[in-house]
Amino acid sequence: MTDTDVLVIGGGGTGVGVARDLAMRGIEITLCERDGLGGGTSGRSHGLLHSGARYAESDPEGARECIPESRTLKRIAGECIRDSGGYFLQVAGDDPAYFDEKRRACEEVGIDFEVLSGEDAREAVPALSPDVERVMEVPDGLIYPSRLVAATARSAQEHGAHVHTHAPVSDLHVENGHITGATVSGIDSNTGKRIDAEYVVNATGAWAGRLDERLAIEMEPAKGVMVAVPFDGLDRVLNRCREPDDGDIVISHPEQAILGTTSVPVDDPEEYDQEDWEVEQVIEECAAMLPGLEDREPERVYWGVRPLYAPDEAEREQRGISRGFFLLDHKARDDLGGICSIVGGKLTTHRLMAEAVADHVAERLGVEAACHTAEETLPGADDPALLDRYVGEFDARGPADEDVLGV
Ligand SMILES: Cc1cc2nc3c(=O)[nH]c(=O)nc-3n(C[C@H](O)[C@H](O)[C@H](O)COP(=O)(O)OP(=O)(O)OC[C@H]3O[C@@H](n4cnc5c(N)ncnc54)[C@H](O)[C@@H]3O)c2cc1C
Repeated sequence: MTDTDVLVIGGGGTGVGVARDLAMRGIEITLCERDGLGGGTSGRSHGLLHSGARYAESDPEGARECIPESRTLKRIAGECIRDSGGYFLQVAGDDPAYFDEKRRACEEVGIDFEVLSGEDAREAVPALSPDVERVMEVPDGLIYPSRLVAATARSAQEHGAHVHTHAPVSDLHVENGHITGATVSGIDSNTGKRIDAEYVVNATGAWAGRLDERLAIEMEPAKGVMVAVPFDGLDRVLNRCREPDDGDIVISHPEQAILGTTSVPVDDPEEYDQEDWEVEQVIEECAAMLPGLEDREPERVYWGVRPLYAPDEAEREQRGISRGFFLLDHKARDDLGGICSIVGGKLTTHRLMAEAVADHVAERLGVEAACHTAEETLPGADDPALLDRYVGEFDARGPADEDVLGV
């Protein structure tokens, strides 16, 4: 007799997505997050809801994942996202051939866009630089990660899942080459509670390789900085239309612009240098699109660590690629049954990642129920105050969107 059908370790976008999907299929779920929900990378991401345009020419497959996922989130996630639209900007000195390549690639993968002159774009967004020469308008948007993670967890709870925050998982228990559960702290004020499960999902993101040395997972985490400055009247996501580089995205919140980012490999996702040059470079580069940024004092600076999977990174450049996701079946890889890991990906595609995991787990458990997560609206979706209450309940307030939250 087990305590739960499935133990999900990690309460970022991926873990709560897995919990929601499996709970909706009638499977009993216990999710344990060592921090508040989203306390790892999800609550510290940039918050771009990718239409796929960023990856259209470099990774059409990744772009094709983003297209339906961003549409789904626009449909089900209400005030957890904002359907702002976005601009890809060709600034004086940028290679015009890159713009034309992106335009062709967006056509090929099926992303709706419109090309505007610099003058027309400046009419819509007067703060744009006079050096902006051409613009592609694309259906990008933005995510408020704290709300998205909290609402997804709330949905999982409403479908019967048990969600524990401040509950770090330490030991995995193995019997006869099969995981039978784990030791979790922080539940019922016990220092170490044993939770027995039929199956375990390791959704610990950048920390996936550190959960247990018997799981051979090579992660290659990469840090990135985001800089929030006071700015209103933007109301669009801005992407620089050039080979991806530092400081080429601006996300627009109602009273702030969130500038990002960098990509620097780190040895340890817990401890890494937070360097001034990253902040300075991001402001300088973003100011080429929006000159008014130059003299703004940052109100908030935060770093996040991408959960990159090393074998994938070895084949790709650090940016300009889609962050593909990987479902690792440890029975096949490490001869350890009853557990899988999910690594890589993007917040935009967390629901799709969760669906892949849930299909895998349901099959192992002999459950035939299908995925319905794209059809059901998230609880509180149209009520920002209620969403923010969920954020408070799950201690999910992260730096990515703290300026818009009422908690
Ligand atoms: C700088 C930066 C910018 C980004 N920008 C975007 C963007 O604009 N758009 C986009 O779509 N994506 C973006 N991403 C990517 C996206 O944020 C991540 O891919 C996604 O949030 C990862 O979610 P996750 O749930 O897999 O990992 P996480 O959110 O890190 O969740 C894993 C959780 O596991 C927990 N955990 C670890 N060990 C244990 C343990 N032993 N016991 C219990 N819990 C544990 C951690 O505390 C953590 O909360 C960005 C990432 C970075 C770093």
